[in-house]
This record gives sequence, structure tokens and C-alpha cells, in this order.
Amino acid sequence: SPIVYLDDVGKSYGNVHALRGVTLAVRQGEITCVLGDNGAGKSTLIKIIAGLHEHTDGVLSVNGEERRFSSPRESLDSGIATVYQDLALAPLMSVWRNFFLGNEITKAFGTMDATRMKRIANEELTKMGISIPNLEQPVGMLSGGQRQCIAIARAIYFGAKVLILDEPTAALGVKQSGVVLKYIVKARDAGLGVVFITHNPHHAYLVGNHFVVLKLGRVSLDTHRADISLEQ
Ligand code: ADP
Ligand code: ADP
Repeated sequence: SPIVYLDDVGKSYGNVHALRGVTLAVRQGEITCVLGDNGAGKSTLIKIIAGLHEHTDGVLSVNGEERRFSSPRESLDSGIATVYQDLALAPLMSVWRNFFLGNEITKAFGTMDATRMKRIANEELTKMGISIPNLEQPVGMLSGGQRQCIAIARAIYFGAKVLILDEPTAALGVKQSGVVLKYIVKARDAGLGVVFITHNPHHAYLVGNHFVVLKLGRVSLDTHRADISLEQ
């Protein structure tokens, strides 16, 4: 059964209907790619799942329970990690502090000394094949691709069930996009349900198995890879 399920969800900003009648299932171990032109409702969809906006119609369920998130914290506490394109991490903070930042168990780690936190961050990033020579440097010094990878690695390590990625490759070149796509696959292999928002159909097709196209706030296509036939 889906970990996140939107049933006939709508969202209006005043009299702007950003989403209408959106039904969508996010399953663990799948990469759900959400495509659509500017203004199609992609950000609005993310904001509802991530706790930045409440939907105005329909039902959002997480793990089969009806939910209505009124803060990002509530979404995170439900196991939903969201990585935004520009705000993936806190730019002025060191790499290792960022690794622990914002997680449910940060409090427990708060009593842990810095040396130990640094060691864990280093071990985890190395384990996931991310090599950052100096974990003391501010995250803002790293490339956009490295920041996305750290944010994804962090979500996997902290046991997120769902990972939402807002245009993670939009600002990246071919090589860095490839690295980030590899981490998206790692998150799926770790059993997360991934929601990959992208403008890039090629990136979607490289990693996705579930494709949802939004058009003017409605779902205009919802299909699985197995259902796509390239013949005829
Ligand atoms: P996308 O992310 O696909 O570009 P959005 O979710 O940002 O689409 O926008 C969907 C529609 O809702 C657009 O018509 C947009 O102008 C409108 N919209 C988005 N956010 C707001 C807002 N905070 N207030 C008013 N209208 C908004
Ligand atoms: P929020 O999304 O929490 O409202 P934003 O910074 O996105 O915060 O938007 C602030 C205000 O700017 C919104 O309340 C809306 O009036 C306007 N706005 C933002 N994005 C859009 C958009 N895509 N289309 C129309 N108006 C927007």
C-alpha cells in the first residue's frame, strides 16, 4: 500500500486553483517522477506533502492515516524528508553540522560531543561514496551537486521513509546531474519512496519507474514504466 496517498486533493490560493482533483500514490522502493510546465502545480504538491501549505480539498494520507500537516516539522516527524533545490542545506554551517541538522534525533545528538558527530558524519558520507576532504568547511562552499548528495545521504541515514526532491538537477551540469541521479537510485534501493520533481524528461526516464504529469493543476498522465510501450 502507498506510504503517501493523495485522494482528490485540491489547493486554492484565493481564487487561483493551483491543484484540482489530484490523486497520487507514492510507494516505498519506487521513484515517482512529477513532471509539468511552469505553473502546473508541482511546487504546490510538494508544499502540501512537506507541511508548508495545507490542502483545501481532498485527503492526504501517510501510512494509511489521514494527515494535514501544518508545519514542516510534522511532515519530517512522519518520515518525510524534503530537499529543496536552493535550500538543501544551511550554507554557512559546516558540513558535519548540516549532516545532523533538522532531524528528529538531533536532540539526542545534541548531548553528543562534536568529535563524535564529526566522526559519524565522516563515516556515513564515506560509506555512501561522498568524499568531502574537510567537514569543517561551510556547506555553501561545496557544489550544488555535492549539497544535494549530502542532503539525500542524510535522509537515508536518518531513516526517512519518503524523500521529496524539488528539481534537484535543474541547476546542475551533465556530470553533476549524473551523480545526483545515482543518489536518487541509492535512496530508492534503501527502500525509500522517492518523489522526484523535474522539468527534465530525460532525467526522469533514466531513474523513474512511475511518471506523473501535471497540467494546469490536474494529473494529465499517471503511468508506470512497465506500462510504457515504445512500439508503435
Ligand atoms: P509549478 O511548481 O509547477 O511551477 P506552482 O505550484 O508553483 O507550479 O503553481 C501552480 C499555480 O498556483 C500557478 O498558477 C501559480 O501562479 C499559483 N501559485 C503558486 N503559489 C501561489 C501563491 N503562494 N499564491 C498565489 N498563487 C500561487
Ligand atoms: P507562501 O507560498 O507561503 O505564500 P511565497 O513566498 O511563496 O509564500 O508567496 C508569498 C506571496 O506571494 C503569496 O501569498 C502570493 O500572494 C504571492 N505568490 C507567491 N508565489 C506566487 C505565484 N507563483 N503566483 C502568484 N502569486 C504568488
